[in-house]
Amino acid sequence: MRRLCLGIESTAHTFGAAIASDDGRIVSDVRDIYVPEAGKGIHPTGAAQHHSSVADKVVIAAFKDAHVRPEKIDAVAFSCGPGLGPCLRVGATVARAISVYFQKPLVPVNHAIAHIEIASLTTGARDPLVVLVSGGHTAIATYAARRWRICGETEDITLGNLLDMFARATGLSTPGGPEVERMAENGREMLDLPYTVKGNDVAYSGLLTAALREHKKGTQMADLCFSLQEVAFSMLTEATERALAHTGKRELLLTGGVAANRRLQSMLESIAQEHEAEFRVVDRRFSGDSGAQIAWTGILAFKAGLTVSVEESHVRPRWRLDEVDVAWRR
Ligand code: ATP
Repeated sequence: MRRLCLGIESTAHTFGAAIASDDGRIVSDVRDIYVPEAGKGIHPTGAAQHHSSVADKVVIAAFKDAHVRPEKIDAVAFSCGPGLGPCLRVGATVARAISVYFQKPLVPVNHAIAHIEIASLTTGARDPLVVLVSGGHTAIATYAARRWRICGETEDITLGNLLDMFARATGLSTPGGPEVERMAENGREMLDLPYTVKGNDVAYSGLLTAALREHKKGTQMADLCFSLQEVAFSMLTEATERALAHTGKRELLLTGGVAANRRLQSMLESIAQEHEAEFRVVDRRFSGDSGAQIAWTGILAFKAGLTVSVEESHVRPRWRLDEVDVAWRR
């Protein structure tokens, strides 16, 4: 008989609930997204209040859409970290309440691993080099001996942060990534912006400062967005190419919110081709945060016996991807 898992996501801007089955189907997927005040970033308490106010309707809708009664699920998974503490606590509290009331096992899920697992599910990737790019992550990772090992990452802000902070400071609407992508389509002139790769890590804060300086000088936004994308994505592509050459992986998998960007996709696709690796991108519906990624990873972890008692189910705002024991992967 197929098994079902409810997944609850609440790491940052999105409160999501979804139901996944162990045959790899996302049976329902409902989200409600917190929108910060114009020109401001996510306020953790404001986002947590948003999540508390929508949690009941989102969870009920996830069950309704799936035509599943709560008694019928086998496990309740929640985003345990990394993320914003106040936001994580809302999702964990909702998950604990459902787990206790319906007497279902509770499964803690690492949100970054969940970005990788939903991408693996939707693309069929089996043993990829992963590029995870979002508001919270910029990492290149490969799996070995029960852990995802980091082959390169950001030394300061993430790629998503770079695009969002640039957009906020220049009056573009948020989230910044899609706006920068749209503006860049009309850019032609390549500006001189700093390119910083250290070892196999990238650093984006100098690039942000320089781009904002150009904006103050009155540089055309289309050229600025174009150049910002070209430099930021080339840095990551260089580090990824080196990791691909070193690991000899035959698949390159792009996931996380920034994975939706077509220019980034095409740069990574070209290096994958050069190294005879298949290039795969997470299904666009699941590139950003969702309950689906938590429900699916929850099913995998639950089947591997990775449950937690309510007493021990504290959230882990700084839980790194490479600290997770991935007992379900071969
Ligand atoms: P994490 O998932 O690591 O906790 P998060 O919650 O901010 O971080 P996601 O929802 O996965 O992340 O991704 C949001 C990010 O994706 C934002 O920075 C947003 O600007 C970026 N993004 C979304 N669409 C695009 C796009 N088309 N091009 C570039 N960036 C994009």
